[in-house]
Amino acid sequence: MPIDPREPYDNDNIFAKILRGELPCNKVYEDEHALAFHDIRPQAPVHVLVIPKGAYVSWDDFTAKAEDGEIAGFMRAVGHVTRELELDEPGYRLMINMGTNGHQEVPHLHVHIFGGRQFFQMIAD
Ligand code: AMP
Repeated sequence: MPIDPREPYDNDNIFAKILRGELPCNKVYEDEHALAFHDIRPQAPVHVLVIPKGAYVSWDDFTAKAEDGEIAGFMRAVGHVTRELELDEPGYRLMINMGTNGHQEVPHLHVHIFGGRQFFQMIAD
């Protein structure tokens, strides 16, 4: 079920528990701003999620409330992960689902990194 992005941050969402170490993850990268780990139900040969360490429900919440340094650090972390995974050549796809129409299911901002094959259709029906 997609989340309602107007709801306040839920400290018990799955990614909050992963950040606190209460649930395991298959970690790819971590720094002061971000944690990256493999998606549990991969939809591409490479499917990694990058999440900010701060408590942000969504992309909208993050871009409205996060400090500039957090935003810059998070964006740099995404770039670092894609390079570390050697996806920059021949390329990859980033996706952020936001709210109900975006069909966001976990109420903590996450960037999907898809790689390992070529993608064609931009939006599936
Ligand atoms: P979204 O629909 O954008 O909210 O995507 C949520 C993603 O989180 C999905 O691709 C799920 O497979 C993934 N996911 C859910 N629980 C976990 C988990 N415990 N570890 C890793 N990925 C997860």
